[in-house]
Amino acid sequence: MAARVATITGSVRFMERASASIVGGDSSTMRVQPYALPLVADRGKGSRVWDIDGQEYVDLNMAYGPLIFGHRHPRIVAAVTRQIAESGSQLGFPTTISVRVAEKLKSLFPSIELLRFANSGTEAMASAARLARAYTGRPKLVLFEGHYHGWSEALFNRYHPPLEDLPQGPYGPAIPGTAGMSRALDDVIVCPWNDLAALEIALADHGEEIAGVLMEPVMGNAGVIAPQPSYLQGVRQATQRYGILLVFDEVITGMRVAAGGAQERYDVSADITVVSKAIGGGYPVAAFGASEKIMQPIVEGRMFHGGVFSGNALVMAAAEAVLDEVLEQREAIYTHLDATGDALAGGVHEILVELDVPHVVHSVGPMLSLFLTDEPDVAITSYRDARRHGDFESFITLQHEMQRSGVFFHPNMFEPMFLSTAHTAEDVELVLDRLEVAARECLAR
Ligand code: PMP
Repeated sequence: MAARVATITGSVRFMERASASIVGGDSSTMRVQPYALPLVADRGKGSRVWDIDGQEYVDLNMAYGPLIFGHRHPRIVAAVTRQIAESGSQLGFPTTISVRVAEKLKSLFPSIELLRFANSGTEAMASAARLARAYTGRPKLVLFEGHYHGWSEALFNRYHPPLEDLPQGPYGPAIPGTAGMSRALDDVIVCPWNDLAALEIALADHGEEIAGVLMEPVMGNAGVIAPQPSYLQGVRQATQRYGILLVFDEVITGMRVAAGGAQERYDVSADITVVSKAIGGGYPVAAFGASEKIMQPIVEGRMFHGGVFSGNALVMAAAEAVLDEVLEQREAIYTHLDATGDALAGGVHEILVELDVPHVVHSVGPMLSLFLTDEPDVAITSYRDARRHGDFESFITLQHEMQRSGVFFHPNMFEPMFLSTAHTAEDVELVLDRLEVAARECLAR
């Protein structure tokens, strides 16, 4: 693999053409940030992705998390190919495959007795919010600073506001995340995360009106931030006291930080669980599920849930291949993912200590974040800490240098790096070698 990307002229030119037809050149704003170096992808395989200029990159983005086994895992490709060639991608009826996928998923998430499939994390989270309200008959929801639950009308609050827009007290109102929103967030309260005392105050003030407390059990949208010891258990108890449903958005963590997600890793169970990314291994699937009792509003037909493509056979074939692999190789997969995550996190830390670059590295298994910071060894346990201490500009400079040396991770420091089972110890060594050179290069400027 070349030590340096020769040219990105093809990608730069193509993005001009792309922007003439698709807003910004691609269909998600996160993929076309103005500060990003263009990389138009041609293909991926395992831990690598190639651009249209023919250059190879170690991919530490894994399509924002779904590619738990890397690009084009043979078992998933074979399952999908077989499904579409022999049975059909979408049949428009109940199928045996979707039921098998549901059963296998349930075996990994004991808190789920009944579920429904959806097509994206956004959809499944919007349904989870509706379910919490339908089940409890209460109007309000609690969200947390820095957490992202998709762009739906129900939940899209401004999750990365400037610090001065955040409330002084223990909680505050949600801020609409985009122009064009209705008043759907009027019933949403936002608390700082990892701060049980703040949540307790919000619940003491509004507990009887709150339907659900919704969180990423490991924060993955303001960099990777793990829950403080016993925080999740504290939230679990507090919500139970008020009859509030605890909703875990395991879109990132589900089948990534453990086969059974953060619930398994931290031994805490949610009332409503949402999974997505890794479950499909690169195909668009999500699910929301809960106990039979909590799912009653849908069972009884009081709450609507639909979707022409929900649970279609194409993505179910991919999900079944992922689930079978996980069920057969569980121990080996998560041992490898954790070891690779630890090796990368440890190696990054060592290099930056050596070079005297102030930073903090966080990892929870194969999801990790490098925070470049204003001073060394700061504690980052919340969005506010990350925002206050983060050096976003230097991170972009370092990311550009890494991309030019054939390693891709997202230039926004808040986006985690993701590893897959396809990432080897040699990949980690290569990334670390390139990081050392890139960091020295940035420091010399
Ligand atoms: N929840 C979390 C925790 C996420 O990270 C994301 C997407 N990054 C979503 C929900 C929304 O998922 P989707 O983009 O599939 O709608």
